[in-house]
Amino acid sequence: MIRDAGVVITDQEAKNIEVVDFGLSNLKAEGVQVLTLFSTERIAAKVLVLFPRQTEPEHWHPPVGDDPGKEETVRVIDGIVRFFVPGADNMKHGVIPRGKDNDYTVRHEITMRPGDHITLEPGTRHWFQSDDRGAVMYSFSSCVRDALDQFTDPNIERATQICD
Ligand code: ZN
Repeated sequence: MIRDAGVVITDQEAKNIEVVDFGLSNLKAEGVQVLTLFSTERIAAKVLVLFPRQTEPEHWHPPVGDDPGKEETVRVIDGIVRFFVPGADNMKHGVIPRGKDNDYTVRHEITMRPGDHITLEPGTRHWFQSDDRGAVMYSFSSCVRDALDQFTDPNIERATQICD
């Protein structure tokens, strides 16, 4: 999907794509695929892929020490993405994953198409979902500390554990 979207990546990068199910073991519904292009002490760039109707669960980037938390800009490369942030509930196209009403609390829907981007200030709750075709996005951000991200769903564990 990344290459089909016109983004050049090496074979090694393709092998390093991280498949994140947030410990929920329901990847098709809730998950994201992440290719980290680079990540330094100060900035990072990633490519995010959502499969059709896949949802990145609601989360926010908390302050860490003296740092106010990760600021993130997501830009759509291919596909249609519904982004949800705090504000008036105007959810129209978005679908809350089954049985997860309490875990998706922000419902102000923003439709994003290729070339659109959104900047999320630190601490802002957000979640996003692709339409029936899936989507490819860039994520540009300040220093990444994924392990410290906070999720509304208490069952989420950001670090994947693989069990036999
Ligand atoms: Zn985020």
